[in-house]
Amino acid sequence: MNYRINPKNGDKLSALGFGCMRFAKDEKEVEQQIIYAIENGVNYFDTAYIYPKSEATLGRVLAKGYRDRVKIATKMPPYLVKKYEDLDKIFNAELERLQTDRIDYYFLHMLTDVNIWMRLVNLGILKWIAEKKQAGQIINIGFSYHGGRDEFIKLVDAYDWEFCMIQYNFLDENKQAGKGGLEYAAAKGLPVMIMEPLRGGKLVTNLPKEVYKVWDNAYVKRSPAEWALRWIWNHPEVTVVLSGMNSQAMVEENIKVASQAKANAFTEADFGLFNQVTQILSEKIKIPCTGCNYCLPCPKGVDIPTCFSTYNDREIEGKTAALSKYIMQTSVKSQASNASLCSKCGKCESHCPQNIKIRDELATVAKTMEGFYYKPTRFLIKRFMKL
Ligand code: SF4
Ligand code: SF4
Repeated sequence: MNYRINPKNGDKLSALGFGCMRFAKDEKEVEQQIIYAIENGVNYFDTAYIYPKSEATLGRVLAKGYRDRVKIATKMPPYLVKKYEDLDKIFNAELERLQTDRIDYYFLHMLTDVNIWMRLVNLGILKWIAEKKQAGQIINIGFSYHGGRDEFIKLVDAYDWEFCMIQYNFLDENKQAGKGGLEYAAAKGLPVMIMEPLRGGKLVTNLPKEVYKVWDNAYVKRSPAEWALRWIWNHPEVTVVLSGMNSQAMVEENIKVASQAKANAFTEADFGLFNQVTQILSEKIKIPCTGCNYCLPCPKGVDIPTCFSTYNDREIEGKTAALSKYIMQTSVKSQASNASLCSKCGKCESHCPQNIKIRDELATVAKTMEGFYYKPTRFLIKRFMKL
């Protein structure tokens, strides 16, 4: 196994982290996979309060003598924290499920903007974090994030975090926090954990046949998953890459790749292959937005690149997945940033290097992504999350 050093505290973390969101159904198999991973060098396990049965399953296996060989990462869901006492209620339940006295990497799960962080600050979370750290119950505090780069940078700057996690893969290089966000956080000395390295499997299965042809004709035989993972590990700014592993074959393949892949190892030939693949996938993309952010800020708060990227994802990920991303990323935050907020002032268009007719495209996005279900769904989610 290759290890990467946490630049904040010197922890030696396996380049591959075990993502525990969707374990295999059979508990015996899960146990075997976890133990195999530990015996083969994986020392970072990522779960969350809201992943069904995940913390309890992980805790049960680690209690068989493995707890001190690994770092546990788990997450507090901010939207379930309505009052100060909820922090302890959730955290204590997590300790109990995980059968441990400490969480090595504790996330605020899916912080979508600074206002949500400020709501927690107003509830007293700074005092709570200080007490937990003092007691040795939280070792490192960080946040996970889905959303645009500008808001990510504001969040990074909003507190003295000890780590963060973003979605990153070769198709999202310029989306969400993206390469710019990764480099910004790393330059501030933060270890950056990566989720969705295979975009939930979408970079591996059901790809256009031309993509498989590129990989099949490459100078070396590697699976699409291996190529995608190696692309991430090529980044020296990345600390741990999570992979949601739910079969023994997957665990073995990922460990093998994680033991070989190094940072800055890609050659011109490798980058050439990725250029071909992204080109093929980009042709499926309706709006040629590169996520450069030059069109921002919009006076109406429209997150133009996120509106376009989630709309484009319809072609690659399917309508339902894209719609749910659109709602989560443009509405599940204190200030909505969806396409129909556009007042058509035109301020953004002169800044777009791709000459996208932003106003027209936003109108299409609003029509397609904000059907009759949009407002009620948004209302229910925001009410539930107290936004
Ligand atoms: S045209 Fe729409 S998206 Fe562009 S700046 Fe104006 S309000 Fe914002
Ligand atoms: S300026 Fe154009 S390409 Fe860049 S993010 Fe805005 S719409 Fe996309």
